[in-house]
Amino acid sequence: MLNMKESFGQRAILTIKKILGKNIFLCDSCQFDWRGACHNRERPNVTRCSDYKKRGK
Ligand code: SF4
Repeated sequence: MLNMKESFGQRAILTIKKILGKNIFLCDSCQFDWRGACHNRERPNVTRCSDYKKRGK
């Protein structure tokens, strides 16, 4: 979902992951990461998404 507010803690976690060089984008591990399944215009660079579902579950 677009325009979701992030809490201070969530922003801090993202910042730490960036500093550590970890992947911060959810789409890379989401089962909907293909054009026919996801119409979010921010894909594949989403860091927060209410529709996220881990691939393989
Ligand atoms: S549902 Fe969300 S996390 Fe999954 S591919 Fe679409 S935008 Fe990315």
